[in-house]
Amino acid sequence: MKKYLFTIALLILAAVAVATYFLFDPSQYALFPRCPFLVITGLKCPGCGSQRVIHSLLNGDIAAAWHYNALMVAAIPAIILYSYAEITYKRHPSLYDNLNRPPVIWGIFAAIVLWWILRNIFGW
Ligand SMILES: [Zn+2]
Repeated sequence: MKKYLFTIALLILAAVAVATYFLFDPSQYALFPRCPFLVITGLKCPGCGSQRVIHSLLNGDIAAAWHYNALMVAAIPAIILYSYAEITYKRHPSLYDNLNRPPVIWGIFAAIVLWWILRNIFGW
């Protein structure tokens, strides 16, 4: 019973979060937290613009989402694949294992660091 209550509470929380990001543009309301790295350093972190990406995608504006954080938009298929591998681990352990091999993880890490550097040089 407790497990179901926890799941229901989690689903309600997720629905509230999705509705909030759908209805309110994070660039227009102070309700949304600002990136601490940006506030302290004046530089963008790899995740800067993510809240605006979520708002744009929920409203069907892919071009705006790409403008706010291209890496996050480009990573959506990978996020879906990793989620699928996590959920189906017992049925497809090799998919999970292959996605979590050190060269793959290091490749993702390198892409994120490269994105972080380039977006601060070119203002992306
Ligand atoms: Zn940031």
